[in-house]
Amino acid sequence: MVGLINAEAPESIDDYKNVMVFLESRDGKIKRPGLEMISVGSRMAHKVNEILIGVVFGDNVGQLLKEAGEYGCDKVIGYESPDLKDFRTIPYATLLSDLISEFKPNILLIPATRNGRDLASRIAVRSRTGVTADCTELDVDPDGRILQARRPTYGESTLAEILCRKHRPQMATARPGIFEVPERKSDVRYETDLRKPKIKKEYLKKEVVGFKPKTTVDLTSAKYIVSGGLGLGKAKGFDLIKELADEIEAYVGASRPTVDLGWITRDHQVGQTGQSVRPQLYMACGISGKAQHLMGMKLSQNIVSINIDPDAEINGISDYIIIGDLYEVIPKIIEEIRKRKNSVSKDSKPKKDENEVKEGEVKT
Ligand SMILES: Cc1cc2nc3c(=O)[nH]c(=O)nc-3n(C[C@H](O)[C@H](O)[C@H](O)COP(=O)(O)OP(=O)(O)OC[C@H]3O[C@@H](n4cnc5c(N)ncnc54)[C@H](O)[C@@H]3O)c2cc1C
Repeated sequence: MVGLINAEAPESIDDYKNVMVFLESRDGKIKRPGLEMISVGSRMAHKVNEILIGVVFGDNVGQLLKEAGEYGCDKVIGYESPDLKDFRTIPYATLLSDLISEFKPNILLIPATRNGRDLASRIAVRSRTGVTADCTELDVDPDGRILQARRPTYGESTLAEILCRKHRPQMATARPGIFEVPERKSDVRYETDLRKPKIKKEYLKKEVVGFKPKTTVDLTSAKYIVSGGLGLGKAKGFDLIKELADEIEAYVGASRPTVDLGWITRDHQVGQTGQSVRPQLYMACGISGKAQHLMGMKLSQNIVSINIDPDAEINGISDYIIIGDLYEVIPKIIEEIRKRKNSVSKDSKPKKDENEVKEGEVKT
């Protein structure tokens, strides 16, 4: 919570209505953490019979307005200017603060990305309110329309609920990868408000010279993840994890100690200080399931644990538990997958005599 000394309460907090979300974009598309804000924001807005207002910035926001509406915003406000093509703190913060004064949203959500964190703290100061950072659960109390912003604390051992009763908007940043991306629908109604502001020269001190493509692993949108932990015993163990991952077209994840030991790079780390993931399948191989690791993967749809310890904490949240040495279990899984793939490819091969068509012959 970023507190403010001597902050004064606004005249009437009842004047503040609706939920507003900042939708960060790049190359004409809303980034995934912004879409996640739409799902949680619209759920909260509709719970208290209010609307969800999305805010987009860019040099050409036509597609962004459409995307935000089709993903579930009831109203989308677009700021369009060549100077807003890339994220720049001062113009973005100034325009968003002015918008807050104009619209008085009860709740403002911003993704806890690097840019989002930068923006949120400035908005909080300008709006004379507080911001609960890096939330993993968000809800609204229908009686007082109070935002219930929850985030892990004390090394993830406790979930703290932080309320902002006296100041508006109630602000939170949300950890990417935790909330769902809503379904996109083309047959929905939404209102748009396109604005073309003139950006003051003094706001443009930072020049964006370009972007280098990310070479790191983005696990947040992975469908399948095979993760290795200290149970691998050595760096080479990740070769086996990779072999299994390749068989099922999965990404490789890791627990933090394996990263600290230099067995694998940090961009593979899952957990509190790594990435938060929610794949269809998460295989935890030789991972005990300490709270800090669970924090980043417990929302996976199907969790498989491979562990020699029947009492490993990870088993408590697993859908399938394999008790055994991963060096015996994983090769058997790989062998079985290959066997099945082979038999499928044999079955699907056309039988020569049935499908062979001689030259000049027409097969009916
Ligand atoms: C502030 C803070 C932040 C943290 N952030 C993170 C984070 O983001 N991500 C993270 O992962 N951790 C994080 N940690 C560390 C976390 O507390 C645990 O120490 C870590 O998750 C444990 O990693 P592990 O499961 O790989 O190792 P261990 O806890 O040592 O577990 C190894 C497991 O392997 C099993 N095993 C051993 N041999 C075999 C075998 N041959 N076959 C099968 N199973 C075997 C064991 O039974 C055991 O369950 C953080 C800690 C702190 C304090």
